[in-house]
Amino acid sequence: MKRALVLALAVTAAGITYAAIKYNPADTEQWTPDPPVISAIAGEPPSDAVVLFDGSSLEAWTTRDGDAPEWLISDNNLEVVPGSGDLLSKQAFCDLQLHLEWKAPTSDPNATGQQRSNSGVFLQDRYEVQILDSYQNQTYVNGQAGAVYKQTPPLVNAMLPPESWQSYDIIFTAPRFEGDTLTKPAHVTVLHNGVLIQNHTEILGNTVFIGQPSYSAHNCAPIRLQDHRNTLYYRNIWARPL
Ligand code: MG
Repeated sequence: MKRALVLALAVTAAGITYAAIKYNPADTEQWTPDPPVISAIAGEPPSDAVVLFDGSSLEAWTTRDGDAPEWLISDNNLEVVPGSGDLLSKQAFCDLQLHLEWKAPTSDPNATGQQRSNSGVFLQDRYEVQILDSYQNQTYVNGQAGAVYKQTPPLVNAMLPPESWQSYDIIFTAPRFEGDTLTKPAHVTVLHNGVLIQNHTEILGNTVFIGQPSYSAHNCAPIRLQDHRNTLYYRNIWARPL
């Protein structure tokens, strides 16, 4: 076993002395517990992911009223049906990693700002990471794609043009409550098309359209996809509870 010999300098009242200290590399090695072994093939959900949409069914989703969603599956993609309501995952999540891909259709030239292919992914049914066609589309910056809605703009605008598939990879740490009291706010990290756009951003509370964000205590809750009465497409949605 290798040992490193280090001379440490010590200053005492009697003057400078040298002491030999032995360090063992094994002192700082941790051998257990073993991280679980998973399979992670690029472009596919990891083996420990909860697959929420793989192109085949909406079995993992429901509506606010608990009905079967009316959103369409076409060409293995999930299409927002404007006016049919939001989609909520049947499973509730706390801390999680979430992957989803989305595509805005060719822009309606008359649709501007928040009306251009607006949707959104709400973490725990409350905290929206905005989805919008923000390609050459001006709006308030904390409402563009990748914003924590009405709170924090993305670090950069990583949008691709309409008709391009785009990805969000989201790491979400849920807020902590003791009784009704917030003890730790939520945080979110987002990569848009592989680019960091939210870096452990503190979430200030529910992402509301009007007024200031605030927290109210809650438990684990569904992922919600927004029907903002605009057409948008999703595919490859999976989550890993953390
Ligand atoms: Mg939205």
